[in-house]
Amino acid sequence: MNIAIYPGSFDPITNGHINIIRRGSKLFDKLYVVLSENITKMSLFSLEERVAQVEKVIADLPNVEVVVAERQLTVDFAKTLGATVIIKGLRNTTDYEYEFPMAQVNAKLDPNIETLFLTATPEHIYLSSTMVKEIAKFGGDLTVFVPEHVATALRAKFDD
Ligand code: ADP
Repeated sequence: MNIAIYPGSFDPITNGHINIIRRGSKLFDKLYVVLSENITKMSLFSLEERVAQVEKVIADLPNVEVVVAERQLTVDFAKTLGATVIIKGLRNTTDYEYEFPMAQVNAKLDPNIETLFLTATPEHIYLSSTMVKEIAKFGGDLTVFVPEHVATALRAKFDD
């Protein structure tokens, strides 16, 4: 079985992430969306909220499952899940500069695990969780950026 993981903080999941999940799910027998705490940024949504948001998104994808990352190296967690590939989405050169050394280090840590980059589709190149939160903060229209249940959750956060 070919198994891959797609790690990220997904705070919240956007249409850009969903595009990568759908494309990744076609390439592998099994795809795990691995949700992690973002150690550099405070998250807006709790892990439980993010898991529920992702679960709704993958409901029609039988070979995709969401799991919460253990506090360990991504390559080690991949191995625990039986995965040999780490999928990353690439939007621009900033993503590339961040992801490239990480892929090199991960290859050194475990040469049996490959990092696979899927380039963002043009309509999602400028889309990030951070941007979506900014739009929500100022009451902007979220419909083209996130699924409806995520837009509702974002509005609820900023209504408080
Ligand atoms: P962000 O980078 O927006 O904070 P994550 O850490 O949740 O979000 O990102 C998880 C993965 O998804 C990373 O590989 C990231 O490059 C990718 N990704 C994020 N947004 C997009 C997008 N709009 N299109 C394609 N890939 C994306």
